[in-house]
Amino acid sequence: MSSYNQEQYDALVMVRRYVAGLGDDEKAGLVVSLDEYLRFRQSVDDFLQTHFGSVCNQACYQSRLSACCSREGIVTFFADGVINVLLSTPQEIDRLAETLRQDDNGLKCVYLGRNGCLWRLKPIVCAMFLCDRAENGVFRERPALRRQWEAYREHKKRFTWPDRPVLFDNLEAVFIAAGRTSPLMYLHNSPGLIRVKQEALRRNKKAYKRSAVYNGLQGNAKQDERKRNKLENHG
Ligand code: SF4
Repeated sequence: MSSYNQEQYDALVMVRRYVAGLGDDEKAGLVVSLDEYLRFRQSVDDFLQTHFGSVCNQACYQSRLSACCSREGIVTFFADGVINVLLSTPQEIDRLAETLRQDDNGLKCVYLGRNGCLWRLKPIVCAMFLCDRAENGVFRERPALRRQWEAYREHKKRFTWPDRPVLFDNLEAVFIAAGRTSPLMYLHNSPGLIRVKQEALRRNKKAYKRSAVYNGLQGNAKQDERKRNKLENHG
């Protein structure tokens, strides 16, 4: 198994086990927290289907080129995986696990099956991807549509970019609080994103205090302070 597949597989198994161990109310609470995001995703899908459906169908699907799925290791956030597990049937999760255990899929994404993507709700990076050819073809004569698409890209940040409490960060925090970690938790692992969060916390502590990430951030700040003290005492 490639290291990419292994990371994805480990995260999938861990999320599946955790979700299976939740009580009905806890699981329902997590699913409810997805409402706004799922409405956003539906709106993006509708937009793409309306304006890009025929372009992509002709250029990629009929020819089975699926050019946007031909990267070897697509970036998935930990939260993408959690959301997908929460929405999937056990059979769908089995299929993902099985495909990750197989050897590589040539130059195609490992998740690309015979009938398309195997995810119930594909990763956000994929959902918002437009190739240059499609983008230029559709937007060239229609600047209002391009503006609408830019607005969608901005809106996406309300779920993924941690300059405020966001769903993708919260979902990671829930698992970390339960003692689970994964290299795919970029919102807790990436030094750049942690800095964005700490800056946001300084600006708006009130908003963060209501979110699941607050304790984690406080933990990070305390750790930083302890490290600083240690260094100073050492000197
Ligand atoms: S995860 Fe799905 S949509 Fe994304 S590249 Fe792979 S097959 Fe395509």
